[in-house]
Amino acid sequence: MIVMKFGGTSVESAEAIERVSKIVGSRSKESPVVVVSAMAKVTDQLVAMGNKAASGDSSEALTSLAALRERHRDTAKALLGEKRAAALAPRLNAHIAELENFLRGLAAVRELTPRGSDYLLSFGELLSSLIVADAFIVRGLSAAWVDSRECLVTDATHTRAVPQMGATREKSKKKIGPLLTKKRIPVMGGFIAASQEGVPTTLGRGGSDYSAAIIGAALDADRIEIWTDVEGMMTTDPRLCPGARTIKRISFNEAAELAYFGAKVLHPLTLLPAIHQNIPVYVLNSRNLKSTGTEITAQTPHSSDTFRAITAKKGISIVNVVASRGVGVHGFLRSVFEAMDRHAASVDIVAISEVSMSFTIETKRLPDALLKDLEEIADVTCENEQAIICLVGEDIHGKPGIAASVFNTVANAAVNIRMISQGASEINISFVVQESDVPRVVRHLHDYFFPANTRAGAGSAKMKKTGITRKPANGSGTKRSQRSSNGRSALSAKRAAAAAV
Ligand code: ASP
Ligand code: MG
Repeated sequence: MIVMKFGGTSVESAEAIERVSKIVGSRSKESPVVVVSAMAKVTDQLVAMGNKAASGDSSEALTSLAALRERHRDTAKALLGEKRAAALAPRLNAHIAELENFLRGLAAVRELTPRGSDYLLSFGELLSSLIVADAFIVRGLSAAWVDSRECLVTDATHTRAVPQMGATREKSKKKIGPLLTKKRIPVMGGFIAASQEGVPTTLGRGGSDYSAAIIGAALDADRIEIWTDVEGMMTTDPRLCPGARTIKRISFNEAAELAYFGAKVLHPLTLLPAIHQNIPVYVLNSRNLKSTGTEITAQTPHSSDTFRAITAKKGISIVNVVASRGVGVHGFLRSVFEAMDRHAASVDIVAISEVSMSFTIETKRLPDALLKDLEEIADVTCENEQAIICLVGEDIHGKPGIAASVFNTVANAAVNIRMISQGASEINISFVVQESDVPRVVRHLHDYFFPANTRAGAGSAKMKKTGITRKPANGSGTKRSQRSSNGRSALSAKRAAAAAV
C-alpha cells in the first residue's frame, strides 16, 4: 500500500479536489490511503476566530464562521451536485454547529487553552476530508472516510502532540486494514489525532506531512507521496536563478539540512517515522499529474552532481564580540555562551579566536537584551543585511578540492565572503555574504555546479581544469583563527526528533 498526502493548496477548491481525485484514481491499484490537510488558509482562519472569540468578540468570530461554512458548502455543491451535497450537509452542519457553540463558550470564558485550540483546529481537517471522501465516491473511487482521531494516538502535549507509535500501529491496522482488504480507499484528515483518553490533539502546524509519515510507518507502506503545489525540491530558489531544477533524489540528512538553511517545501523532520523504516518519500506537484518530483530516502542516493542544492537564508546579522582587555579566554567564551543561553539565542555559524568571537543569527531573533549583556563583557558590533549561502551534498565528504572550487566561483562573481563554515558532518559548506550579493553569487554557483543541459558531472570536470583536485582545501579556515561549525547539525536535530517519535 501507499500513502498519498495532499496539502492545503491541493484541496483549496473544487477544481483542486477534482485534480486530486484524478491523481488518486491513477494509483488506485496500489491500495492508496489518502491523507488531506484543511483547505488552504482554513487553519489560520480558525486560529483567528478563536483569538477573536477569546477576546470577548464573538460576533466577528461568528461572521468568519459563516464564511467558512459557505466555502465548504459551495465546494461540496460544485463537486457533488445538489443532491449528494444535500446528503452530506447534515454532517458538515453538525461540525459547524459544534464550532459555533465552542466560539460562544470561548467568548464567555475568554480563554483559549492549548487543549481548546486543538479541538478548534481539528475542524479544518474534519471538514475537508469529509468533502474529499464524497468527491472520490462520486467519481467512481470506492472511498471510505476514516476518523484520524481513532487511528493516531498521541500523548497529551496539546498543540504539538507526540505520536505513540505502538498504539497508533495497533489502532490504524484495525481501522484501515480491513478497508484495504476490501479494496476501499481510506480518506482521513492529517494533523489531527487523539490522546489515549480520546481527547483531540494536533501534531503542530503543518503537521499533515507528519500524519502521512506516521500512518505510512504504522501500515508499513511501500512509499509515501507528499503532493504539494511545487515540482518537488529544487536545486535552488527558481526566483533567484531561472536555471533551478527539480532534485531527483536526495537523502534525508540532506533534505533536513536544506530545510534548516531556508528551503521551505516541507519539514523533513516530520518524515522521520517513515525514514526510520526505510520507506521512500516523494514530494510531487498536484498541479501536474505526471509529476515525478523528488525522492527522499534514508541513504545517500548515487549522483554525479557534486552538490544536491544551494540555499540562501537572508535577514541574517553577524555579531562580533571582542573581549575587553583583561578577560581570560576561558571566562570570555563561557560568558558569551551563557548569555546566549539566557536569551535562548539560536545561532547558525560561529567563528572563534582567542579573544573574539563572531556568530550569525536571524536579525528578527536577535534580542536587544542579549547585545546589552554582551556589552558588559566585550566590545560588540553588529552587521545586518547579511545572508548565509549553503551548499548541501553528502557526496562532498572526503573529497578534496570542493571548497576551493566553491570559493573560486564566489571570487569569480566578485563577491566578498564574511564568514565560512564546514561542519564536522561535511554535508554542507556555508558562508556569509551581504544580502545584496545573494542573486549574483547563487547564479554563479548554480551555473558552475548545475550546468545547463547536463544532469551529470556538474563541477567535477571544471575542477580538474583548475588543477586543484589533489590539494585538500576545506573552507573552515586556518587552525589559528577559526573553528567553525553549524549551530545545529542535521544529526542532532534528527536525534531530537527521533526521541520524540
Ligand atoms: N492544516 C494544518 C496547518 O495549516 C496542517 C497542515 O496543513 O499540514 O497547519
Ligand atoms: Mg501544509
